[in-house]
Amino acid sequence: MKNGIKLFVLLIAGATVVSCSPSRMGASQTDNEVRNVILMIGDGMGLPHVNAAMTVAGVPLNIQRAEVTGLQTSHSADNYVTDSAAAGTALSTGKKTNNGMIGVDPHENRLKTILEIAEENCLATGLVATASITHATPAAFIAHQASRSSYEDIARDFLRTDIDVFIGGGYDHFAKRADGLNLIDSLTAKGYEVITSAEALKNSVFPMKLAALLYPDQPPYRLQGRGDMLYEATRKAIDILNRNRKGFFLMIEGSQIDWAAHANDAEITIDETLDFDRAVGAAIDFAKADGNTLVVITADHETGGVTILGGDIKSKQVQLNFSTTSHSAVMIPVYAYGPGAENFTGIYDNTDVPKKILKAFSFDGKK
Ligand code: MG
Ligand code: ZN
Repeated sequence: MKNGIKLFVLLIAGATVVSCSPSRMGASQTDNEVRNVILMIGDGMGLPHVNAAMTVAGVPLNIQRAEVTGLQTSHSADNYVTDSAAAGTALSTGKKTNNGMIGVDPHENRLKTILEIAEENCLATGLVATASITHATPAAFIAHQASRSSYEDIARDFLRTDIDVFIGGGYDHFAKRADGLNLIDSLTAKGYEVITSAEALKNSVFPMKLAALLYPDQPPYRLQGRGDMLYEATRKAIDILNRNRKGFFLMIEGSQIDWAAHANDAEITIDETLDFDRAVGAAIDFAKADGNTLVVITADHETGGVTILGGDIKSKQVQLNFSTTSHSAVMIPVYAYGPGAENFTGIYDNTDVPKKILKAFSFDGKK
């Protein structure tokens, strides 16, 4: 009888797996097939931020390993200067929305994200950020809320998906909620290993599903205690997702380039850009060895209205001049590496980025 129940449970589990039917065109894998996409977003990372990081590094950045560069425009549905919510939604859904809105159009209609489309196509999915995982950029890939500040509702949206890995801050939005719900228990019940410290993240060995909520709210700057969290999280997420033979979609955000630029802090702006670039290195190293991985590196908008009015290559000095404590509307760079990278050359809109990613994946008939 006990065996009978076990068999029944196994059959149900089997049925769940079968219900995920891949719709990708073509059965055999070719040299140019894109199996995995790693989308990397340096929040607020305009051309001057990258330019300054290149000078301070004194050696070529990992971003410079990209094979293709392009430019994208970033205005939102209601503002020439976007915020991270509207830009994140454009990058995740291919649709414009108003500033402040997450995964919905200006009328609050739900928009399907590339992470959700990847899930429908049986891919493994993940989100990594150096912000709270409920913050605008990662939220735009998984949540559907009229306001980016509805952090507790955004946390709940994570449980409505089958995301395999998410790593960032924001523990309190899951655990210490106004509605009294304990979403940590819900995550555990759904099969997630829940990790709450960077040390535990380093030591965790291949959990099937990982929810790493490493800080109560926002992680600190790298220079103020975050250390190599982004690099470690990037490698861990790739390791876990790469076990899915059908492939994966992973979004990685260097969240705090934006915050340092809002603060007009040149040193931290450059340091956070260099930190993001180390994660880019981990992604490109993986893509190079794998051969079927497309890496797309871009920003959601420029922050700080930064210009470079002076510097010195030899002494690795650069003078950043900020023209605002907010965002600017200037076009932002896109860098691509791997199969499908050629589609990212030219000048286009931020809404084209997810369309190019879906085209690279060759999903059939799904939108
Ligand atoms: Mg962000
Ligand atoms: Zn910002």
